[in-house]
Amino acid sequence: MKSYRKELWLKTANRRDYVNITSEIEDAVQESGVREGLALVNAMHITASVYINDAEPGLLADYDDWLERLAPHEPTSQYRHNATGEDNGDAHLKRQVMGREVVVAISDGKLDFGPWEQIYYAEFDGGRKKRVLVKIIGE
Ligand code: ZN
Repeated sequence: MKSYRKELWLKTANRRDYVNITSEIEDAVQESGVREGLALVNAMHITASVYINDAEPGLLADYDDWLERLAPHEPTSQYRHNATGEDNGDAHLKRQVMGREVVVAISDGKLDFGPWEQIYYAEFDGGRKKRVLVKIIGE
């Protein structure tokens, strides 16, 4: 069995951002040499998510509006977590809703997606460098 590990580094300009990382994961699959297997992709930070859905700008804006209604960033004083001196209480909650990781099948050397599926990195506390882990196993 082959095993391949790679870290992607991302730094978003905005506090919240949604970045399509599908082509980077496709590159990792090629680099791994795996033809049949699994790719795990996870955010390595507890204020960011990796998820799969449509690459459609309206949907990205809908996610952002919805998450802000669920857990508004302001006022930061509403979160007990922020009593530690942080201001990212909302980001932890947004990450929980959008998830930590995705697993995608690799078939015939390619990510085996359903229609319109794309892999996204969602940042909820941006402005600093953060990592995504890609782990690929198979043959
Ligand atoms: Zn925090």
